[in-house]
Amino acid sequence: MNSDSRSGPSAPKRFAVLAVIIVPFVGFLYACLTLWQHGYLEWFYIILALVFYVLTGLGITVGFHRLFTHESFVANPSIRFLLAVLGSMAFQGSIIDWCTRHADHHQASDKPRDPHSPWKYGVSFWNLLKGVLHAQFMWLLKVGKPPENKCYKRLISDPIVSLVDSTTWFWMLTSAFLPAVLGHLYDPEHGFLKGFLWGSCARLFLLQHVTWAINSYCHIWGKRRFRSGDLSTDSYVFGILAFGEGFHNGHHAFPRSALHGIDTPWLDLSYAVIRALKRAGLAKDVIIPSVDSINGKRR
Ligand SMILES: [Zn+2]
Ligand SMILES: [Zn+2]
Repeated sequence: MNSDSRSGPSAPKRFAVLAVIIVPFVGFLYACLTLWQHGYLEWFYIILALVFYVLTGLGITVGFHRLFTHESFVANPSIRFLLAVLGSMAFQGSIIDWCTRHADHHQASDKPRDPHSPWKYGVSFWNLLKGVLHAQFMWLLKVGKPPENKCYKRLISDPIVSLVDSTTWFWMLTSAFLPAVLGHLYDPEHGFLKGFLWGSCARLFLLQHVTWAINSYCHIWGKRRFRSGDLSTDSYVFGILAFGEGFHNGHHAFPRSALHGIDTPWLDLSYAVIRALKRAGLAKDVIIPSVDSINGKRR
């Protein structure tokens, strides 16, 4: 851990983080307002938002989380590059920043060094409410440079990760404007704005808050099926919306596992993708806990 990681971001960095949080939110509100005014939305924009949600969401869950942070499987270089790019298009920080902070979370889950525990301020109603906001997104405004932990040292020496990390801004711009360009091709008169509002703003807002809810909701409410040494929980809602990541108690109990929905593998879309990659010869060495170790940690 370097000292800068605890000292908070610079003013320009804090402004950029704020913009990344606020712009999709405002765009989402405006998209809802236009929907209310017009009373309908063409299927094109719903499918556009859904496709970008799934692709960039899998970039986070299969790529940033299970591949790059936890090394739950080994993927060939083209898949590594593709997943790193898709995750960078989710507006959740650069790949090295995301993975190293998440590794820090596992090192000290729900303890004082956890970068985003919802229990940080205590257990009373108001303190927990403050903690939920902290875990959801406020913590992003308080952290400085990424921690120089083991994950950082591994990723910084990875040429594919370094290349994508240093070009994060390019992938973010692509993510923000590609849906607008596709919208323009569909409808040259109004498509650019509609594509931007639904394919970029609404999609990014929903994906950001679903992902961040794993840090907040899934450390408070839900079922604790396994002894994991922290307060993580399993949630069906976020298990589905976040492609398996909501089975967070299972993940904390078996952090290296490519499967998070230990008892609900059919709801773990990210695991299905990893299995498909393996079947296609694009991934190997997929880590799954043994039945004995699963039963050994069962509550
Ligand atoms: Zn967690
Ligand atoms: Zn994790």
